Amino acid sequence: MIFRPYPGPISLYLHFPFCTNRCHYCDFYKVPYSKNEAARYFQALRYETEMVLAALGHEPVDIASLYIGGGTPSLMAIDFLTEWLETVNAYGRLMPGYEFTIEANPESLTAEFAVGAHNLGINRIVIGVQSFGVGLLRPLGRRQKMKDIYRAFYLCRLAGYDNIAADLIFGLPDQKIRQVKLDIERLAALEPTHISFYQLTVEPDTRLAIDIDKGRIALPDEDTIASMYRFGSHLLSDKGYLRYEVSNFAREGRICRHNLAYWTGAPYIGLGPAAHGFVNNHRYANHADLESYIGMLEAGRLPLAFVEELDFDQRLMEAILLSLRTAEGIDKEKLIRTFGERALAILEGKAKGRYVSSGHLIDELGFVRLSDAGFLLADTIIADLVAQV
Ligand code: SF4
Repeated sequence: MIFRPYPGPISLYLHFPFCTNRCHYCDFYKVPYSKNEAARYFQALRYETEMVLAALGHEPVDIASLYIGGGTPSLMAIDFLTEWLETVNAYGRLMPGYEFTIEANPESLTAEFAVGAHNLGINRIVIGVQSFGVGLLRPLGRRQKMKDIYRAFYLCRLAGYDNIAADLIFGLPDQKIRQVKLDIERLAALEPTHISFYQLTVEPDTRLAIDIDKGRIALPDEDTIASMYRFGSHLLSDKGYLRYEVSNFAREGRICRHNLAYWTGAPYIGLGPAAHGFVNNHRYANHADLESYIGMLEAGRLPLAFVEELDFDQRLMEAILLSLRTAEGIDKEKLIRTFGERALAILEGKAKGRYVSSGHLIDELGFVRLSDAGFLLADTIIADLVAQV
């Protein structure tokens, strides 16, 4: 059983599946925003929150962090958010020093939302900047203007947030390295506490995939993308943002604790359609369909589409996969203590030796971690190590 009493603190992720836009590269689950549909969603969400948190323990469940992602959470009505938090607080307890993040799109963020969310205890906001090059974003279907980005930062500062983070994408159609430089310089000038620096990925069956297939759009080649990542990582570091995960950079003390919980294998609850969770050694996913999600909860059932209990091999794979993405890397002693000889065999195996010799992995002071060159090949290196499990 997944949802049974759980002793330790947990993290909570909420998926808000509404957007006013359909970005051509996006494969997140989302539906067009309407206030009526959002009201039905929140009603179902409150049932789900009650059922899950009540099953995790009779005492209030300690919540270390919350994260509201989407979709476009900045479209949420503050009244609905307030009511949902009443349910959370009825069954859970935000721990002292909790982190509570919400994502916001620059063009839809309003002063009312920024202030309302801050008043509810949200203390970290992530602005989806993506790029200041509005022309670069147009072929991807994003509508924001440059002034929306500056306005969003201004509104968040005015509302009192002292932890404002931002997302940047690189590898955009026809993008040049000098434009990546400009994006980072402009963003750093706004002094966010944290920058996620992601490569644009082409997800199957998206409009972007079709446009590329038909030759209507061209992405930079692999070497240019690798140079963008290397250049961008160094520039971010020069600007005082330290890489703590492949795509994540933070000012000192501003690492996203919620994301770190994912990468360190800590338990988290996923609420909302298409949300994923991991607790009591089970992974699960909710139905990625709003009608099924609402219908099942109205019928008194959890909207689970997938549940899996992790076996020994899967747990070992996850431990390697997740920790190697972080700058700290694999804690060798901890991995061997938890997984015994199998872990030892991987840590002393051929694949690891090969990557240490080629300079992609560093094995020192009890940790195995990616080198600067290794971060460029993170997915391949991780796949090779995990293949030995
Ligand atoms: S706003 Fe975000 S979630 Fe919505 S379509 Fe665009 S990328 Fe996807």
